[in-house]
Amino acid sequence: MAKRIPTDVPQGHKWCHQCATSKPHSAFYRNKRSPDGLLYCCKPCTKATRERTEEYHRIIEEVLQESREMAARCPPKVYEPYIPPLSVW
Ligand SMILES: [Zn+2]
Repeated sequence: MAKRIPTDVPQGHKWCHQCATSKPHSAFYRNKRSPDGLLYCCKPCTKATRERTEEYHRIIEEVLQESREMAARCPPKVYEPYIPPLSVW
C-alpha cells in the first residue's frame, strides 16, 4: 500500500516520504535526476539513511577483512569440505 501524500503541501514545500512531513525546499538536498530537482527525502532523513548505509558497509568490510585475514593465516586444507569419518555415520 502506497503512503498517502497530502495534496495541501504549501508552495515552496516538499513532502518527505521518510519522515512523512512537508518541509521547505531548503530542507532538501538537490538531485538533478529528480523532476523537481530535489531529493526524495529531507536533509535529516538523507543524512540518517547515509549514516545507516555507511555503518552497514563498515560492518560488512570488517567481516570481510576478518575472513581475509583468517584465510591468509589458515592453511588451505581448512577450506576443504568436511567429510565426517565413517564412525560418525
Ligand atoms: Zn524527512
